[in-house]
Amino acid sequence: MLVGIPPAKSVLSKFRIANNAYVLGTFETGLTIYNQQVRALNLAWSMVESLPTNKLRRVARVGGGFAGLTAAAGLLHKGVEHISLFEKLATLCPLQQGSDTRWVHPRIYDWPDEGSDLPTAALPLLNWDAGRASDVAVQVLQAWDALVRSVQLPAAKVPRIDVYLNVKHLRIGETLQIEWVGEKSNIYSSPIASGDKQRFDSVVLAVGFGMERKSPVSYWRNETLGQPELDLGKRTYLVSGQGDGALIDLFRIRISRFRQDRILVELFGDNPGLLKILRDLKHTLVGARIKPETLYQRFEDIATDKHSGFDRLLDALRNRLRADTAAILQTSRTVDSFKKVFSTPASFQNRFLLFALYRAGGFIPTRREKVDRICEEYGIKNGDVIRRHGTDRLEALHEVMDNTLQRSSKRRLRSLQEQSQQPSNICWEGGYWHVPLPKLKGQPLESDTSKAKWRLEHLPSATEVWVTGFITAVAGYLDSLGTAGNDFRVTLHRTLYVGVEVTLQQAASYVGTTTRIGDPGRTFAFTNATIGYAAVMRQIVRSRPRTAKEKDEEYRKALQSDMGQLQLTKHSQQMYEGVRSVLAIPVFGRQPKNVLAVLFADSTRFNVFTDNCVMAINMMCQRFASQIGKIHSDRVANFSVPPVHQPTTTISKIAKLRVIEFVAQQRSAIVATANYLNIEFTDFLTVQKGED
Ligand SMILES: Cc1cc2nc3c(=O)[nH]c(=O)nc-3n(C[C@H](O)[C@H](O)[C@H](O)COP(=O)(O)OP(=O)(O)OC[C@H]3O[C@@H](n4cnc5c(N)ncnc54)[C@H](O)[C@@H]3O)c2cc1C
Repeated sequence: MLVGIPPAKSVLSKFRIANNAYVLGTFETGLTIYNQQVRALNLAWSMVESLPTNKLRRVARVGGGFAGLTAAAGLLHKGVEHISLFEKLATLCPLQQGSDTRWVHPRIYDWPDEGSDLPTAALPLLNWDAGRASDVAVQVLQAWDALVRSVQLPAAKVPRIDVYLNVKHLRIGETLQIEWVGEKSNIYSSPIASGDKQRFDSVVLAVGFGMERKSPVSYWRNETLGQPELDLGKRTYLVSGQGDGALIDLFRIRISRFRQDRILVELFGDNPGLLKILRDLKHTLVGARIKPETLYQRFEDIATDKHSGFDRLLDALRNRLRADTAAILQTSRTVDSFKKVFSTPASFQNRFLLFALYRAGGFIPTRREKVDRICEEYGIKNGDVIRRHGTDRLEALHEVMDNTLQRSSKRRLRSLQEQSQQPSNICWEGGYWHVPLPKLKGQPLESDTSKAKWRLEHLPSATEVWVTGFITAVAGYLDSLGTAGNDFRVTLHRTLYVGVEVTLQQAASYVGTTTRIGDPGRTFAFTNATIGYAAVMRQIVRSRPRTAKEKDEEYRKALQSDMGQLQLTKHSQQMYEGVRSVLAIPVFGRQPKNVLAVLFADSTRFNVFTDNCVMAINMMCQRFASQIGKIHSDRVANFSVPPVHQPTTTISKIAKLRVIEFVAQQRSAIVATANYLNIEFTDFLTVQKGED
């Protein structure tokens, strides 16, 4: 197991509420779609890794939101035989479907951390990009449909997934017997109404966070708050609440053209000094080096510091204030002064934006309790009161648990309410979801053919396009030499961080004269095979020239034996027996020895990668690296992410490689402009233009 990955059993215990019954995220803070999806995959990972197979045969999921679907997708991919999914409403992801007035972004709540501007969830299953909530639902549901079709062929006698929609009655007992009334739906046929009861081996409750308290309109329903008034004069709103939901609505009412996914870039994009101050402040807050109660004062200190860049932010914000609205923010009775709002658990950026809006005179805070009185005083109409008071989380769970299960899970639920710590950072290893588990499949792992398509992780298509252009040029150069033959290939593997793991990911299809296959997106260990050897040793690696005395068979066996020592097959196919020349060139990032990518080429001809050839390809690699950080347009940019320590030692003791050798690296003045190769399409502008 990798250092930094917690044991699966201990992760699973954080989700457990009773024997083989688990709850997904209901009591967590950090309620984002992305966090819930990561929690869902962590739960699926910990179930698959630590439960005996008899607890994984028939799994029930209650709740068809993003979390329920993602967990089901993970289990199906790993080979769980059968899943029943129950959803109370008439469709999957019902909250966000058709929600055109809310914008969601996978990482915006991590702002201003490095990597928080990355506009894709980058998940290996049910991935999505920032956009309207309705678009996100479409992306995820499309991926879900494709996944269901891929695991459940129309002719299959026993379905692998049953989806029940419109489930108006559902009760789970302590023995994990579920009774329900709903409509059984199948991707290939129309829904059939049915009522039934059945025992399950494991049950996951992914019922979300409950209904919003006292709010007549759900956060996700479309309304016109963000639109300019068509009547003359100002309209005054009362926003009641102090969590993220309330603050977002306050911002929409008071800031013109507010979009949650890009407002921070628009306001802070040319203010890197202020961004750095805020980044440091957030780290001290998260690291518990300052108390949340002091946050307002810290913001005050920033505002009064003439050099902080706060004045520029204030000007920008004032320029964006809407002239057609006014707002009153009603905070909770327990908050005895406005300053205390800043010690509540709303996200850091929303608290800072609230502070800036306050300084810009963008709203009036009040602690007065009586809504009628406030409305009377400010002339607010009934329909212009927005209540965002959180949700009743326990109620959502109790609705589906019968008395026996409520009793047996009572203590555990109470402790989860007090302190729930279901991890929202990735626990699984790179490529995990696309490798079926032998214990679930009931057969040994995997032929070489399937290895051509496994261990996939999200590969941004913009990265793939760009890398394909580059390796096509390299392949053209090899063609021009006339020595690479009619079965050579080139590709590039980018360094990819998945949770705490560093992997190498094939970033484009092979280009060359070969017909040998291997899908882009596959991940490989950073320490294995020729590419891994080049990566950990930070050196160019190739097959040495064959000597005049050496026989073909002798050389071939020696090369294959080297691949054995480098543990090639851990994640890859066997090396094709016809291969006689291999090359791997590490491409470094801006920091010395930080491996950004590894170019790989091989051929069935001998002695293809001569000194001159290696020098030329290495120069091409350096040029390639020098351009990455310069890529920046409104639609395409290279995004950095927080670095992970890269391994510097090989997998095992290598006795002596007989064919693979190092090539002295050519010194070159060209310097890479990025530390991570991660080019994404986006309509979301990066904070710092030009470089990461
Ligand atoms: C006010 C508010 C604002 C938010 N803002 C954001 C944001 O800006 N960005 C962001 O990323 N996330 C946001 N979130 C969080 C986001 O809504 C969730 O992370 C997301 O919906 C996925 O969570 P989920 O699948 O766990 O729950 P849900 O989406 O709530 O899904 C739970 C599902 O379970 C079903 N269900 C409930 N009870 C039963 C039952 N008895 N039987 C069967 N099915 C049942 C529900 O119908 C629902 O489909 C916000 C949440 C709230 C409440």
